[in-house]
Amino acid sequence: MSIWESKLDEVSKPVLSVSSLSAYYGELRAIYDVSIELQRGDVLAIIGANGAGKSTLLKSLTGLMTQGSSTRIRGSIEFNGHRIDKSGPDQIVEAGLALVPEGRRLFSRMTVEDNLLAGAYLARCRPTIDTKLEEIYMLFPRLRERKNQIVSQMSGGEQQMVSIGRALISSPTLIAFDELSLGLSPMMVDEIYKNLHRIIAGGTTSIIVEQDLKRALSASNRFCVMLEGSIVLEGKSNEVSLEEITAAYFGTTV
Ligand code: ATP
Repeated sequence: MSIWESKLDEVSKPVLSVSSLSAYYGELRAIYDVSIELQRGDVLAIIGANGAGKSTLLKSLTGLMTQGSSTRIRGSIEFNGHRIDKSGPDQIVEAGLALVPEGRRLFSRMTVEDNLLAGAYLARCRPTIDTKLEEIYMLFPRLRERKNQIVSQMSGGEQQMVSIGRALISSPTLIAFDELSLGLSPMMVDEIYKNLHRIIAGGTTSIIVEQDLKRALSASNRFCVMLEGSIVLEGKSNEVSLEEITAAYFGTTV
C-alpha cells in the first residue's frame, strides 16, 4: 500500500463503530442491539423522548456502564480502531472520547479555572494545558473574566460553558454532549449552540443528545431517533422531515 493509500485508509476508517450494543441496569435492559458508525467530522444527533435510552447510550460509550456491579453492556464499541467496551472512563478519556454530561457534574466549590484544569489530569494533556486554556477562554470570554469565581456562584449557562471547556481541555477526537440546553433560558441556549457550531466547525466529531428537534437537526449532519432503547429511524439531518422524526419519536406512523 502506498503512503497515500494508507493515509486515505486512515481518513476513511470510522472514528466510532458500535455493533449490537445492549445495556443493562440489573435485570432491566435499557438499550437493544444498537449499531452506529461515525466518520471523522460527523455530527450525530441522538433524538428521543424521556427514558428512550439516550443517556444510557452515552454512558455506555464513555465507560460508565462498566463501572458498577449492577450495570453492564454487551456488544462491541470500537473507537479509532481499538475496542473500548471493556475500558473504564479514564482509559476512554485517555483514548480521546470526552463527555459533557447531563447536569454538568462540576466541582461546585472549586473555581472555574480549577474545574477546567480538572479535565486535564492525563499526562498527555500537560504539555498543551496553557494553549488549550487559552483556546477555551477565546471560545468563552466570560470564563476568562470569571476564572477565579466559585462555580456554584455562576449561572446555569456559565456552568454549562465550564462543563464544555472541561471536556475540550483533554483535546478529544470525539465529544459527546448530553442535553446541553436542559434548564437554560432560550438566550443562553442560543449562545451555547453558537459555540457548539464553532467547536464542530473545527472538525471535532460529535454526538449531540438533544430534546429540541430543530436545534438537534440544524447542528448535525446525521441523526438517529431512539424509542424504548432501540434506534427506530436514522439518516441525514438535511433529508428528513420534522413529521417523520416526530412520528418515530412517538412511535406512530406518518
Ligand atoms: P432522559 O431524556 O429523560 O434523560 P434518556 O433517553 O436519556 O432519558 P435513559 O436515562 O438512558 O433515557 O434511560 C433509559 C432507561 O433506563 C429508562 O427506562 C430508565 O428508567 C432506565 N434507567 C436509567 N438510569 C437508570 C439507573 N441508574 N438505574 C435503573 N434504571 C435506569
